[in-house]
Amino acid sequence: MFVDEVRIFVKAGRGGDGVCSFRREKYVPRGGPDGGDGGNGGNVLMVASRRLTTLLDLRYQQRYEANPGNPGEGSNRHGRTAPDVIIHVPVGTVVVDEATGDTLADLTADEQSHVVARGGRGGRGNARFATSTNRVPTRTEPSTSGEDRWLHLELKLLADVGLVGFPNAGKSTLIAAISSARPKIADYPFTTLTPNLGVVSWGEDRSFVVADIPGLIEGAHEGKGLGFQFLRHIERTSFLLHLVDISDWASEDPVVSFEVMRKELVAYDLALKTRPLAVVGTKLDIRGNDQRLDRLRTYCKRHRLRFFPISAVTREGLDALIIFAGKQVESLRAPCATTS
Ligand code: GDP
Ligand code: MG
Repeated sequence: MFVDEVRIFVKAGRGGDGVCSFRREKYVPRGGPDGGDGGNGGNVLMVASRRLTTLLDLRYQQRYEANPGNPGEGSNRHGRTAPDVIIHVPVGTVVVDEATGDTLADLTADEQSHVVARGGRGGRGNARFATSTNRVPTRTEPSTSGEDRWLHLELKLLADVGLVGFPNAGKSTLIAAISSARPKIADYPFTTLTPNLGVVSWGEDRSFVVADIPGLIEGAHEGKGLGFQFLRHIERTSFLLHLVDISDWASEDPVVSFEVMRKELVAYDLALKTRPLAVVGTKLDIRGNDQRLDRLRTYCKRHRLRFFPISAVTREGLDALIIFAGKQVESLRAPCATTS
């Protein structure tokens, strides 16, 4: 699966206690109460970052503890509040409280943050309890403890573009041809299929993430084949490239092949019906007599679908496809960057 998982323990700092103290100075008899408040304990925060692509680092450190606040002191000095501990996680991380099963946060935007353990409050010193009738209060308020909990973190990779199509359509080959960096993802030894992710660079300094959704076959939405577990990752992509083999090697008619896969996706999730989509005819270098290519091109024109014939081997058509996909991603990203 695309899901990277890890368990961690977080503990916020306890607040500092308020103190009991009285002013004692030469020439100031019976100085009033001057015990300061304790500082608050540090919080543990989780912050999403686009630069990270895996939860792997958190496997090496499992405990995150913030310091306690300092106790108050005499002369009305307040204790210092402890600094927060910040845990950086990739965008796409879902934070679940292990004990209750509640989702605490779904961090879908860069720099989005969430307090996962709140620090304890500092207690008030006795100076706060002076009243007109009680000028020598000895009462102080104890601090409260910080929260602690076990968290289950799950990374749902947020690919911008999902590559769909039947096995052998050329998804893996395309991703290898257009992406430069491969984010590391954990090993998933329980399946022979590994999802493939790539970062595609284009223009001056722009990029988007492509995901190969492997194992889709007819009936995948009912659990047939191994594609089902990957289907939910399509839900989060903003744009789909639907690959259809137009070479002489393919046995199925390209239009039938497209429509069958299309039905499959919509049967899984009706929302996919309206997901922006372009059709990619693959293996242009072995297209034979163009019959299949023409048939798919005509079909796309009739249905107002953008159509890109490509060859991942000779690289024909790849530049046009990358620029188109990059622009699509950018126009889709902007308005919904903060929605979850
Ligand atoms: P996937 O199952 O969709 O990931 O398909 P693959 O990328 O594994 O490709 C299936 C087969 O088609 C492999 O043997 C590839 O080498 C071949 N293939 C993919 N793209 C091209 C192409 O553009 N030209 C040619 N000639 N072969 C291709
Ligand atoms: Mg593949």
